[in-house]
Amino acid sequence: MADVPKTIKQWQMVQPTVFNRETKETTPGKLEKAEIPVPELKAGEVLVEIAGTVIAGEAAWIGKEVIIPAVMPCRQCILCKTGRGNRCLAQKMPGNSIGVYGGFASHIVVPTIDLCLVQDKKGYALEQLAVVADAVTTPYQACKRADLQPGDNVIIIGATGGVGVYMAQTVKALGAKTVIGIARNPDKLKRALDYGCDYVISTLDKTNKDVVGEWRNICKSNGLANTGWKIFEVTGSKAGQELALDLLSFVGKLILVGFGMAKSEYMFSKLMAFDAEVIGTWGCLPEYYPIVLDMVLSKKIQIDPFVEVRPMSTIAATFEEIHKAGSPAKRVVLKPDF
Ligand SMILES: [Zn+2]
Repeated sequence: MADVPKTIKQWQMVQPTVFNRETKETTPGKLEKAEIPVPELKAGEVLVEIAGTVIAGEAAWIGKEVIIPAVMPCRQCILCKTGRGNRCLAQKMPGNSIGVYGGFASHIVVPTIDLCLVQDKKGYALEQLAVVADAVTTPYQACKRADLQPGDNVIIIGATGGVGVYMAQTVKALGAKTVIGIARNPDKLKRALDYGCDYVISTLDKTNKDVVGEWRNICKSNGLANTGWKIFEVTGSKAGQELALDLLSFVGKLILVGFGMAKSEYMFSKLMAFDAEVIGTWGCLPEYYPIVLDMVLSKKIQIDPFVEVRPMSTIAATFEEIHKAGSPAKRVVLKPDF
């Protein structure tokens, strides 16, 4: 068993990256190494890495390997008590609402109630499984919000991104009949055909009308109804959201999984005429983590091709790379190396 350290070593963002819309200039953020004392652990708390081994706190958890959920509900409020705890307003998020205790650190203090126990890693390294928190669980919660059923026809906008690759695999694993992946990059789309997508449409150099036309052709040539499709918008971009709204049709559902700041215009009466729904989804209930972990461990959802582990000391360079080049081919997991 690891010794309980006196301090937590961590990377703190002392200045966020700022993009100036007028000058189009980006001022890079600043990350600094810091050391903070390990606090006295209260009842129901343990000391662990973001996906790691419990080394102090409640005796029953010591030595256990765990994944820490990205959002931890309060379990007291009306939202928690009515099954909507993933959007609890008093929820705790590592590095955000748990104060200085964030994930870019040697250790983190967390409540035990939400921990997802990893009993058998099935050959994975624990740090690889860190992507279960957020990237893989968010799509599962989105499926719950969409009331995804076996036999459903699904469109995923942003099917090749860091969350999109898991969105496609999750809907397929849950029994979707048809999954159409939409994104820009044709090479990444080709790969998506091996991971959940039955058909793909590249938006490169196409209007929304072109894309809607391609979707209609897929329906026609495969005998699929063009009503009742469930559309998951994962990019959070204006272009993605506008395409999603253009694809939304009779008794369809649009589920907004991605976040962005852009505003779009839409004739809301279409929802009335279509008898359609637009739904938001946030985070994932910790209760679903073991189910998602099981889907990953049983390879219903593949993570190997989409995860890259780097030493945490590369944090500044990694952030810079992602800010410059955009979404990387693989999601980077930073392993503490203080
Ligand atoms: Zn709550």
